[in-house]
This record gives sequence, C-alpha cells and structure tokens, in this order.
Amino acid sequence: MGSKRESFRSIKGTFDVLPEESSSDGNTIAGSPSWRHVESVVREVMDRYGVREIRTPIIEPTPLIARGVGQTTDIVSKEMFAFERGDTQYVLRPEVTAPVMRAYLQHNLGQQRAVQKLFYIGPCFRAERPQRGRYRQFHQFGAEYIGSANVRADAEVIALMTDVYAGLGIGDCTVRLNTLGDVDARPSFVSALQDYLAPHVSALSETSRRRLEQNPLRILDTKNPVERELLVDAPRLSSFISDDSRDRYDRLKEMLDALGVTFVEDPFLVRGLDYYTETAFELETAALEGAQTALAGGGRYDLLAEELGARQPVPATGFAAGIERLLLAMKAHDARTVTDARPDLFVVLAGDDAATWGVEFVHQLRRAGARCELDLSGRSVKAQMREANRTRSRFVIVVGSTETASGEGRVRSMETGEEQNVRLTVESVRKLLATS
Ligand code: AMP
Repeated sequence: MGSKRESFRSIKGTFDVLPEESSSDGNTIAGSPSWRHVESVVREVMDRYGVREIRTPIIEPTPLIARGVGQTTDIVSKEMFAFERGDTQYVLRPEVTAPVMRAYLQHNLGQQRAVQKLFYIGPCFRAERPQRGRYRQFHQFGAEYIGSANVRADAEVIALMTDVYAGLGIGDCTVRLNTLGDVDARPSFVSALQDYLAPHVSALSETSRRRLEQNPLRILDTKNPVERELLVDAPRLSSFISDDSRDRYDRLKEMLDALGVTFVEDPFLVRGLDYYTETAFELETAALEGAQTALAGGGRYDLLAEELGARQPVPATGFAAGIERLLLAMKAHDARTVTDARPDLFVVLAGDDAATWGVEFVHQLRRAGARCELDLSGRSVKAQMREANRTRSRFVIVVGSTETASGEGRVRSMETGEEQNVRLTVESVRKLLATS
C-alpha cells in the first residue's frame, strides 16, 4: 500500500444523486426523493396511456448507434463513449430510440400487438462539454409508439408528454411543432436550400458549412444570429411538402387543439436525420433561460426500422425527455419539492437493557408495514431525541426497563406534543400510528 492517500471524485459531467439536494461543479443536483417522484409520475402517466415499460442494455453495438442515430450527427461523430473488446465495438448508449427499435425488431414485437407503446427511463451518455443542464451521463425518459402510421399516434404521444410535465407542476411549457413532410419532398427542398445558401457560404459558421454538405436540414436549427437572419428569406420546407403531408399536419394540429395542447408552429424546427418524417416537435420552457431550454424532443421516424435492417417499413413516433432539465425546471417553478418519506415512529432506547427488546419490536413493526427508526449507535436519550427530530418522525416513544416490564409506554406526537399511553404490542402501536 502506498503512503500517499489518493482521493477520487466522480468523472466530470457526471454526478451523484444523494438523499438530499447537493451541488456538483456548481450545479444543483436534486435529491433522490425528487428523482423518485419524477420517475413515479412518469410511470403513473404511462400507465394511464397504456404504455408499457421496456428496459434495454446500457451498452449497445456501436454500428447500431452509428446507423440509428446517424453518422453525420454530432452524437455519433464526436460524442460517443465507445470502446472495443476483442473485435467487438461497444458504445454507451447516447439515446434510447435506436435500442428500443432494435429490441422491437429482435423480439418480433410487432407480432404481439399491432401498435407497441413502450416507455423507458434510464441513463444515456454523450461526451459533450458539461454545463448547466448538459451532462455526460444524463437521464432520459421517453415513449415510442411503434406500428402506427396514423396521425392519432403523434397526437397521443405529444399529449402524453405534456401530461407528464403537467403532472409535475410545470404547466407553462411550449410545444414547438413542425412537419418535415415525407422523404420524397426532402431532396428538392435540400437542393433549393443549398442553392439559396451557396452565395452566402462565407457568412456561415464552420459547422453550418459542414452541414450544408452532409446534413443540410440541420442548418435550419442554427442558434447563430447571423445565420438565423439569413434563413428568414430561405426557401421553406412547407412549400415543398405533398398535399398528403399538409393534410396530415392540419389534422394533427386539429387534434392537439381538441386535446387542449397549446403549441406554436416553428418552420425551422427539424430533426436532422433522413429517417425522420412528417411530425417533429420539441418541448421548451422559459424557466431554463440561460441553460438548455429544450426539455424534450420527438417526432415520427417511419424509416428507422429499415435503416436497422427491417424488411418492411415499420411506422413509429415518439419522444425523449431529459430528467436533469426537468428537475431544474421544477426547481425554477418552485414545483412541489419532494423530501424523504418521514418515519412514523422513532423508538428511543433508555439504556442497554431494552436493546434486544427494541430491536425486535422495531423489526416487527416494520414487517407490519410501519416506518420505524431506532438508534444504531448507543447514544444518550437526548441525542436520540435530537435524531428523532432530524428525521421528522411523526411519533416518538422512549423505552427502558420500566416499559418493557410493564408492557406499556408513552407515545409522543412530534407535531402536537400530545402524549398518550399505549400497550407495547404491534397491534396497539400500529393502530395508534394509523389513526393519528
Ligand atoms: P435528444 O435525444 O438530443 O433529442 O435529447 C432529448 C432530451 O434529452 C433533450 O431535450 C434534453 O432534455 C435531454 N438531453 C440531451 N442531451 C443531454 C445532456 N448532455 N445532458 C442533459 N440532458 C440532455
């Protein structure tokens, strides 16, 4: 063993979720009770919509992600945590849509149900520059509706997404909406856009110049003010899409109106990959101004399955949402803060004589469903009372040899200060905890 002590810290861009709110590299990290709250609301809303959970591995074959997310994307070209063992290439998943589609195809889930409605919650990894709302290990939840080409599925996915946020007390998000049309509309739009931008190439950033060649749609997404100005007069995708696509988009908007989902249309909203078609949307909140404002994004990806080797087209639509940004938005909104579950009863032991009795009694109460706490370090009665306060226990009982001999004790309500006698049986104590 070396004499110099080494200390370790979590990797930059990753963080620990502790029982209480904490801070990591200057960012506030919500405590685990808030994470559990978010996860339980997600599950509850998914249940209401009949969306069932899928859990896929954290590691996937690199070629799946390269194909499924797209070679030209930032994610694949520079943000993958990829590694090799033997002659297999692995990647820590940067998103979950491609893995879910892989699982759908691998297990022939289309044979079980015409439309598979699946959701996931879990970590994703991208080697981005860490900042507020942007991490290297972050967490997403999302839903994928696989097997329906109907615009109803898009409307339901968007309503489902907004219901999760409403359920968490963040009502004032904005859905930005656009249509990308079908693939047939894409080439003529792309060449019109390239023609329009050709004389202005020198004004474009290096990224946009690269995109102009590899992935021109993504230029529409630029945040660069000069480029945005330039795009004001650029050809619009909407003038290139088919009547069918336009009709479909109108029906989607009509349905969203009927569902009470407010949205704004944004002709510059795109998803940069060829397999995305028709519906595209993003959920934004003003609460994260100065951080990352995109809470969630999604759309229809009818061509992904074939990209991943399916013999027939499998129409699909879905969304992915970031949990870190959601928690930041909840904090900004002062949405219900969540704390640990409080103990029902703290058993304070007066002296060692009652220790075995106390350990057993607490054990039985716990088995019977009560939340019970007991001092584990043999502290004084006073220190145990302080601890009972710290845990915000609803009731406290002090037990020593007198109580164990008589089989009776006094329970004190920490809220009202009231005390009452109780028989020291599991039934009597449970009854008291339940009624008060
Ligand atoms: P995307 O798959 O890029 O459309 O991301 C979907 C959502 O995941 C975004 O709207 C964010 O809320 C979240 N997200 C994406 N990348 C990160 C990241 N590096 N850190 C935290 N959240 C992220």
